[in-house]
Amino acid sequence: TLILAIESSCDETAASVVKNGREVLSNVISSQIALHTQFGGVVPEIASRKHIEKINQVVTQALEDAKVTLADVDAIGVTYGPGLVGALLVGVAEAKAIAFAAKKPLVGVHHIEGHVSANYIENPDLEPPFVCLIVSGGHTHLVIVKDYGEFEIIGRTRDDAAGEAFDKVARAVGLGYPGGPKVDKTAKEGNPHAIEFPRAKVEGSPYDFSFSGLKSAVLNYINKAHMTGEEINVPDLVSSFQNAVVEALVSRAVLAAKEYGYDKLAIAGGVASNSALRAAMQEACDKAHIRFYHPSPIFCTDNAAMIGCAAYYEYKKGTRHGWDLNAVPNLKLGER
Ligand code: ATP
Ligand code: MG
Ligand code: FE
Repeated sequence: TLILAIESSCDETAASVVKNGREVLSNVISSQIALHTQFGGVVPEIASRKHIEKINQVVTQALEDAKVTLADVDAIGVTYGPGLVGALLVGVAEAKAIAFAAKKPLVGVHHIEGHVSANYIENPDLEPPFVCLIVSGGHTHLVIVKDYGEFEIIGRTRDDAAGEAFDKVARAVGLGYPGGPKVDKTAKEGNPHAIEFPRAKVEGSPYDFSFSGLKSAVLNYINKAHMTGEEINVPDLVSSFQNAVVEALVSRAVLAAKEYGYDKLAIAGGVASNSALRAAMQEACDKAHIRFYHPSPIFCTDNAAMIGCAAYYEYKKGTRHGWDLNAVPNLKLGER
């Protein structure tokens, strides 16, 4: 079964051809990062326009790289939420047009189900059920993947998403956008124990996260240094911040796997490419005799291959969308 998948929920225009949900035949990503960097973040209107400009080219390239034609494809998969409405609409319109013209079924996919499914690409032995920590730019969820596309949410952030915290701290210390990868790199030159930042616990909810207190502590630290004229050691600062985030993520994810009795733990989303998180998660899982799964960095951040994986399992379950499929900017996980 071949899926042609399209992703345009944020600032990546992407298309991919995926075979049987696990084998990526092509993975084309046109990133708009350079375009948005000058504004310090994604400008929705600019993102939509750029998607329109790129989408046809990206889809054509994906088919070409996979050495297939539209006729070979069994279904068209597309992200229809959550994300920026104008950005999503471009991918949804493209997918509907292709599916209609080529007489192929249309399968709408939840972007976060895509992030989780990225784990299937390089881990042929990974099958539900397992615990998954979803850490992206807009989401921080701890879920049990009960079956393909079936999630039980057991924890979530009460305020900022993990990726958002990385981006805000990076901006505050002048590392630029997107902040995650820059913090990751700069933190390698710092001491993760240099500054003791608070570890927030959500009272009565052992699997929930909170990052706004940590973010405020970092900003206060910076402001205080500015007032006293003290020099800030940026590598130490971001390394200590990153360490606090990683500790919060790892401790809750591993606790969840143990308490709920799963011996498989996966991570997903852009922050899953963070080198400190991966190392700490591996170490904690080894200790607890849990198998740790993660996608390669290219499949952690936004891409269409992960959408192709998710679309395949939805397609097998019989999920089909009509020509009235619309972008749903605040689509909830588990909704169809
Ligand atoms: P969502 O998937 O929730 O809709 P998104 O698609 O914008 O949001 P992703 O593409 O999954 O988010 O991930 C982007 C986020 O991941 C950004 O916040 C970015 O800073 C963060 N990120 C990327 N690489 C790293 C890294 N190496 N370390 C930490 N954070 C990272
Ligand atoms: Mg992006
Ligand atoms: Fe994403």
